[in-house]
Amino acid sequence: MFSLPTMSARWMQRGMLMMVGAIATYLLAQANISPSWAQTGYPTANDPYLNDYAQVIRPEDAASIRQSLATLEANQGIEAVVLTINSIQDYDTGDSTIESFATNLFNSWGIGDADKNDGILTLVAVSDRNVRIEVGAGYGNSLDFAMQSVIDEYMVPNFKQNDYSSGIVQGTEAIIRRLTIPEETAAQPSSPQSASPDVSPSYEIQNNNYQSWLLGGGVAGLGGIGLTLRQFLRYRRRRCPDCGTDMIRLDESSDNQYLDEGQNAEEQLGSVDYDVWQCPNCTSYDINRYGNLFSQYKTCRGCHYRTLLSRRDVIRPATYYSSGTARVTETCQHCSYENTYTVTIPRKKRSSGSSSFGGGSSSGGGRSSGGGASGSW
Ligand SMILES: [Zn+2]
Ligand SMILES: [Zn+2]
Repeated sequence: MFSLPTMSARWMQRGMLMMVGAIATYLLAQANISPSWAQTGYPTANDPYLNDYAQVIRPEDAASIRQSLATLEANQGIEAVVLTINSIQDYDTGDSTIESFATNLFNSWGIGDADKNDGILTLVAVSDRNVRIEVGAGYGNSLDFAMQSVIDEYMVPNFKQNDYSSGIVQGTEAIIRRLTIPEETAAQPSSPQSASPDVSPSYEIQNNNYQSWLLGGGVAGLGGIGLTLRQFLRYRRRRCPDCGTDMIRLDESSDNQYLDEGQNAEEQLGSVDYDVWQCPNCTSYDINRYGNLFSQYKTCRGCHYRTLLSRRDVIRPATYYSSGTARVTETCQHCSYENTYTVTIPRKKRSSGSSSFGGGSSSGGGRSSGGGASGSW
């Protein structure tokens, strides 16, 4: 007899729990949105190896750092990047410590392989007098001690002398030694790596280039033949279908009266050229349409003439570590059709042709779970 009210009380309780759960999920979703907006506040990577925004690295040292990190990537497949800034306060990110700034920036850029999570970020905030070496989640905490020793032995002593350039060069070399030479302090990422540098990818790339070069030449050749044929067909002699007299091609100004408004707009924009052939003997005429292969104008979805102009404004440029976005604005030059949408700009690819970069289908690159070491001076 009392089971009924008990049941309904239980259901009410369950309903309350579900509501609380829904609210919590909603709040979490809201909370998840803000970091991705905040990510736009982080500096962008314009170079795959070194972004010296604090301008503290000497040109010869910058060249040496880039060379060393390119070699590390070629031999070990490990992406490492150096970033210098003045202060984390210069960026609107909401991070109050160099640790959280480094972790979020690492994940925003997606440093390292997405599957191995083996990226390395060296971040020096010069006027904050803080340095952070952030490592990918694949290392766990196995590199923390080694990275701390790099900071303490090579970076901080030089930074104290205001010699950031030497500190970063020596520190970068030390990081690479600890990643590549097995020592007590060194560690490898937990996931297996190819033991020896593989030579075959570079051959494959050369082959591909050769093939695409051949293909490109072939297409250009065919294109040439096509153009010639087009010219021939366009200006070939033709007779009036009604009376058999040779027809005359009208010149550009006198053919306009035979074209409608949209066709005249196309001719003015250069997207389509119309030829009007007229019979000198009877009233018969013929309109031929020739689309300009090189015109930027696309066919309008409103009026169906080729009068649609597309403009692309970059909102956020793509970098080596993250994709960008652009706004495309389409406006018809003939009717009132307008359309705006955003597109993703794929992230920049490195020229080295490293198999680890961009090879995986998973986008976004490597993650850090906050492992690494920090120092101050
Ligand atoms: Zn005729
Ligand atoms: Zn239109």
